[in-house]
Amino acid sequence: MQHASLPISISQITKRYGKTYALDHVDLEIHSGEFLTLLGPSGSGKTTLLTVLAGFTRPDGGSLKFGDTEMVCEPPHKRDVGMVFQNYALFPHMSVLDNVGFPLKLRGVKPGERTQRAERALEMVRLGGYGSRDVEQLSGGQRQRVALARAMVFEPHIMLMDEPLSALDKQLREHMQIELRQLHDKLGMTTVYVTHDQREALTMSDRIAVIHAGRIMQLDTPRALYERPVNRFVAEFIGESTFLPVQVAAGKATLAGQAIQTASPPLHDGPQMLMLRPERLRMLGTDAVAAPSANVFDATVTAIVYQGDSSLFQLALGDGSVVGVRDTSVMRVAAGDRVRLQVDVQDTVLLPAESAG
Ligand code: ADP
Ligand code: MG
Repeated sequence: MQHASLPISISQITKRYGKTYALDHVDLEIHSGEFLTLLGPSGSGKTTLLTVLAGFTRPDGGSLKFGDTEMVCEPPHKRDVGMVFQNYALFPHMSVLDNVGFPLKLRGVKPGERTQRAERALEMVRLGGYGSRDVEQLSGGQRQRVALARAMVFEPHIMLMDEPLSALDKQLREHMQIELRQLHDKLGMTTVYVTHDQREALTMSDRIAVIHAGRIMQLDTPRALYERPVNRFVAEFIGESTFLPVQVAAGKATLAGQAIQTASPPLHDGPQMLMLRPERLRMLGTDAVAAPSANVFDATVTAIVYQGDSSLFQLALGDGSVVGVRDTSVMRVAAGDRVRLQVDVQDTVLLPAESAG
């Protein structure tokens, strides 16, 4: 069963609680059938935006369309959205089948058809044959799948999920991330997913909207967000990084007194910030020949931290600034050794100096 799906158009949506802007003039276009994630720290406005979509929160201003239809004033039951929350709120004294069939009962679907459709939804989440069980007999992961089956049993055009996996342990969470994404690909409904976990967002999403203080900082594919963050907040929220001050004069960037080539030309003269991802850096011997498309700096190893699957090396550049390098190979270097640090030009990314987030 391929569900129909609808695009979502969010324009200038604002929600205030007292003086706090939970949502501050949010614009967001979500494509039909897309898996879009709202990623941000606690209190950034993720849940508020999701409840605006569901109709539980009335915004102070702005427009919300599903397809061409204005939805801001529509009550939740007229919105045709399925929802899954962190605490999945199943009815404890009902069977799995009755839980899943409940939304159909609310919509006046007759018992025979109800059972049939609930069983089909359970098969979708790989719980075929579990219908007669009590929900209390199920594991955490199975309960979350029942909640999912209940959210999709009436074949909504839009699916909303608010940190649905955060109560599960790491292994199950990672398994469910893949399963949820596969289910989305099979059913094709427009999905808005909320998480504060950057790895989860990178794993699951077509695009990610990074949200901070009620505003969308950047909307991009996982790769673009990671490799080309627009400011320091996004760069710090996703992945590890070192930030170094850079001077730009006459369009040329210099770091620690040395000219550097950058992934894209500097936007303006003046102070800017260089972002370096530790796993994109390479250490070379002092006599090694650097690649032509790379920046190379003389450095001294100041610390080595063994972390099992990789090691983290701390390097000091000529001007004393410290850079982290992650390496998975076994390096024959020791603290105090002199090395050369190599960064591909495409990984030499400038950010605006003033955007401290
Ligand atoms: P997130 O889901 O990203 O953690 P929320 O959307 O829950 O963030 O909250 C965004 C901001 O709005 C926070 O500052 C929060 O305290 C505030 N807020 C959310 N709901 C209410 C409410 N019902 N009353 C007052 N303030 C609220
Ligand atoms: Mg929340």
